Amino acid sequence: CGIVGYIGDRSANEVLISGLRKLEYRGYDSAGVATIPKGLPELHRTRAKGKLINLEEKLAQEDIIYASQIGIGHTRWATHGKPEEHNAHPHTDMSDQLAVVQNGIIENYHALRQELKERGHEFVTETDTEVIPHLIAEYLEQTRGKIRTEHAPAAPTSPELMEAVRLAVSRLEGAFAIAVVHADYPDQIIAVRQQAPLVIGLGKGENFCASDTPALVSYTRTVLALDNGEIARLTRDRVEIFNFAGDRQRRSPQTLNWNP
Ligand code: GLU
Repeated sequence: CGIVGYIGDRSANEVLISGLRKLEYRGYDSAGVATIPKGLPELHRTRAKGKLINLEEKLAQEDIIYASQIGIGHTRWATHGKPEEHNAHPHTDMSDQLAVVQNGIIENYHALRQELKERGHEFVTETDTEVIPHLIAEYLEQTRGKIRTEHAPAAPTSPELMEAVRLAVSRLEGAFAIAVVHADYPDQIIAVRQQAPLVIGLGKGENFCASDTPALVSYTRTVLALDNGEIARLTRDRVEIFNFAGDRQRRSPQTLNWNP
């Protein structure tokens, strides 16, 4: 129901929670965040049923352990699968290194789930969303550079993740907006818009994405509106936009007029 993504020098948890709070008016039944700790290429995921305060209390216990500067967050309004913690976003693939938040509905999730199960994927939620990280993981196997050895870190500008997301979302039917992070690509957020709102916020040495502008305005008023069928790759210093065919799209930033 609500999506926030952040990459930059601030505490990702703080930006994600403050952004999700601005989207609370839309209603939700659970919330969660996935971040990649600074200097530690591992995905860290925290979810809680109910109000954001429940998630914040969990995070408060963890905050001393790590600081992170990239992450995605979600407030969920359940459509497929009960409003329980295990169904709360972000959802991961089997490696637990890839996390996805999604708004909307994946109409063909059942067929995709069957196909992925036949390829050995195991599912742990009842959501339509869970097929997305699994599908991206499948395509990532294909797009991973042959030059790079298995555990070498990806270059910040590596197109592998973006390509895998592009191939995966091309298989999805329905109305959705998603944001993706992967521990092997700690310098990128991939965001997709398809018949559900998603906007990019531009900062200096930091960038944002969100399902609605109130989540952004305390940080930036410079935005890039994504069109349906577009994918954005956010790093700290740039945002690139592509269509589902992989063609680069040009977009001029707009300034929000906002009187809080
Ligand atoms: N269909 C997804 C779910 O039930 C996303 C719902 C939403 O937009 O929050 O988990």
